[in-house]
Amino acid sequence: MCSDDSTIEDGAAAPDALQSLIEKHWGFRELRPLQAEAMQAVLEGRDSLVVMPTGGGKSLCYQAPAIVRAAQGRGPTVVVSPLIALMKDQVDALRANGIEAAQLDSSLSGSERAGVENDLREGVLRLLFVSPERMAMTGFQQLLREVGVHCFAIDEAHCISHWGHDFRPEYRQLAQLKELFPGAAVHGFTATATESVRADIIEQLNLRDPEILVGNFDRPNLTYRVVARHNLMAQVQEVLARHKNEAGIIYCIRRKDVEELTAELQGCGHKAQAYHAGMTQDKRRKTQEAFKNEDCDLIVATVAFGMGIDRSNLRFVLHTATPKSLEAYQQETGRAGRDGLEAECILLYSGSDIMLWKSIVERSAAEAVAAGQDIDPIYVPTAMRHLEDMDRYCRGAVCRHQALVEYFGQTYVPPAAIVEGDQGVEAVWDGELAGEGSCHACDVCLGDIERVADGLIVAQKILSAVARVQERFGAGHVISVLRGENTERVRALGHDKLPTYGLLKEHDKSQLRDFIFQLIGQKVLVLEGQEYPILRLNPASWEVMKKQRDVRLIQTRKKKSEKKSRGETVSWEGVDRELFEALRGLRHQLATTRGVPPYVIFSDATLRELARLRPSTLAGMRQVYGIGETKLRDFGSQVLPLIKGHCRDHQVALDQMPTPDAKIIVKPRPQTAAPAAKPPRPNALKNQAFAMFSSGAALDDVAAATQRSRGTIAEYLCEFIETQRPQSVGPWVSERTYRQVLEAARREGNLRLRPIYVALNETVDYDTIRIVVTHAAAVG
Ligand code: ADP
Ligand code: ZN
Repeated sequence: MCSDDSTIEDGAAAPDALQSLIEKHWGFRELRPLQAEAMQAVLEGRDSLVVMPTGGGKSLCYQAPAIVRAAQGRGPTVVVSPLIALMKDQVDALRANGIEAAQLDSSLSGSERAGVENDLREGVLRLLFVSPERMAMTGFQQLLREVGVHCFAIDEAHCISHWGHDFRPEYRQLAQLKELFPGAAVHGFTATATESVRADIIEQLNLRDPEILVGNFDRPNLTYRVVARHNLMAQVQEVLARHKNEAGIIYCIRRKDVEELTAELQGCGHKAQAYHAGMTQDKRRKTQEAFKNEDCDLIVATVAFGMGIDRSNLRFVLHTATPKSLEAYQQETGRAGRDGLEAECILLYSGSDIMLWKSIVERSAAEAVAAGQDIDPIYVPTAMRHLEDMDRYCRGAVCRHQALVEYFGQTYVPPAAIVEGDQGVEAVWDGELAGEGSCHACDVCLGDIERVADGLIVAQKILSAVARVQERFGAGHVISVLRGENTERVRALGHDKLPTYGLLKEHDKSQLRDFIFQLIGQKVLVLEGQEYPILRLNPASWEVMKKQRDVRLIQTRKKKSEKKSRGETVSWEGVDRELFEALRGLRHQLATTRGVPPYVIFSDATLRELARLRPSTLAGMRQVYGIGETKLRDFGSQVLPLIKGHCRDHQVALDQMPTPDAKIIVKPRPQTAAPAAKPPRPNALKNQAFAMFSSGAALDDVAAATQRSRGTIAEYLCEFIETQRPQSVGPWVSERTYRQVLEAARREGNLRLRPIYVALNETVDYDTIRIVVTHAAAVG
């Protein structure tokens, strides 16, 4: 585990060759925590298991090295993925970045499949995505051996484990990979945090001495809020008003709730669509597509919705009821903000949800027993424990980020102190309950909720009211007594004569109900019975009444603070919102034309940066996060006129670029054959390598001196050749070999490495071929 990766934006520098490649294709300038380490393992061909939260950036860990590996002639990388829809999106996204990738699945026609297989044989593909079922076919395995596959990435690797939350029998066959492909490396990727699943994945996949990398499970860009549910519709509307024109999911427990809420929202003019497992498959598919393509931004759903949804710009996830475990909650909220921008996760909580869940668990266990089925003896206690953990989380007045991270067995490291120059952020840091380690992104730390000043006294009043009615009534009646309601029932029972009558009349019903459930959660009050649950006391109740035990009650702050979370303040700074919306429109149009989801074109983070920097030139646009060479070439001519037109019409300044960062290559590489001279980037190791190349040092010597792998040094050498154009590459390639390679290239009619390698009967290694080909292109 990494202790200094508290914010996802922080990142170590990538090894140099990889970094420039990532910059070129993806337009990312920094790596996220553990990405460098994970890529290193793939490059070295060492088995690995990488555990990162959703949105942590797992895909890049195998995608970027796949390019290097293929370029070094080490074969394409095969990615095993559980869902066809996800594979297709990944392939689209890679192609949009100028990377050759394809998928082989049952959706392809015969000729499409033959096309992919041809590309594979010709060494065109960097990555091939397949289903686990296909991996089990012997013919396919043979093909992979023929084309020299030595690297497998297993996405959603927890699907191989019975202990994971999503076991898939077809994953079990992957256990044989290491045997079927001796010498190949297998890399597992998952977001599942538990230790036992992790160990099981390693065992099932037969990983040998794997590099195990476990990321930080905190999602600093998510703001968590837990709000007592008192008026569902009004509270939902409030959230939607905060997220106008933004995408989100509203989760309900039951299908019926989904349908009712959808209808109500549609009635108020929201373009909401329903999704639950009771709908026809066709209808469900259409809804998913609409959401993915941004034709619909609001889904009301049961937990059936989400798997297979890769849309990265969800700005909120709203739970209208309490989920049944923190695992489920983490997974469902994890769908928000995958693009790294701020997003809000709101949970409308009620103690009665927990009761409902508990009775569902008990009932289903009882029914199973009655039907003579075997039920796992740990089923009921485990489910109950999960519910209690969930309940404690909701009632707790502990930072939500901290509570979640600790629940998953990690130590919470709050974000580093204020980022320099981040003015305006300090103001949000005065949450009452927030101490030193405030996260600045949860209701507790932002001061949405506060401790009830005289909480102990309020608790004593409630408990003594329960005692006075002789532990024979439910919460509703106790509340009536405490509020001093003058009802027939209260009078008939003589409860208007009790000393506790009207003791808490200043509080409203829902507030008192919430306090009662908080006391139940703290185990100083008990709710008993199924149909008409009544409130009972326990020994702890008496300790509270005798002031021998403390309790704390929390409430929503009356005067709502207008504070925004750290993320909200920072990531919209300087963004021209109208331009952002206009760019969003253009993105939608481009996506429709290409038949891909909008996020494949640009992420929201990229759109915001475009609307913040407002570049007027291609060079300026290239500086924007997420824009690599391919996207610049493909979309520059549409994006730039839009920006310029908008800025002219609205009199907004163009080109708000920061002072050029030495690390960033602004100049796009020309698309012509001969690469223009490019100064080496200021990097000590590379400079050292270049200096050694100038005096003709051998690859191995340079590798030893710089402590880099031979492959990396070969990459450097090619860059050296491209930029410095030495007359000869004599120090690295003999004249005879040079001629051989060139002749083979001529015979094959192209400069692709693999055909040349094959034509030379595999006698000349790939590094050498690349050096020759690069030199021929640079000087020829
Ligand atoms: P995961 O598979 O772990 O859920 P993804 O691989 O889908 O996460 O990545 C989430 C998002 O983060 C994607 O939009 C991806 O392009 C982006 N991303 C990944 N690595 C980086 C990085 N180093 N810098 C910026 N963005 C990144
Ligand atoms: Zn917090």
